[in-house]
Amino acid sequence: MDATDGSEGPAALDRFLRTDPADVGCGEAMAVLHVYAELVDRDPAQAEAQYSGVAAHLAACGPCAEDLAGLLAALRD
Ligand SMILES: [Zn+2]
Repeated sequence: MDATDGSEGPAALDRFLRTDPADVGCGEAMAVLHVYAELVDRDPAQAEAQYSGVAAHLAACGPCAEDLAGLLAALRD
């Protein structure tokens, strides 16, 4: 099993259950979301390393995670 994909499992649940101090919040996540989505499309690990606060927010915020999914779907279309 490759455990480097942090999108599922105990770590993601833990982040959901208590607010991550690195969480940048909706406003800042939205401001960079299109850049973040392009980076995720190319290199997900790099995206999470470079935008750890945004990654923390997306793990905790359903609406923003949905927006990211929409951007990724558009990029891959
Ligand atoms: Zn949000």
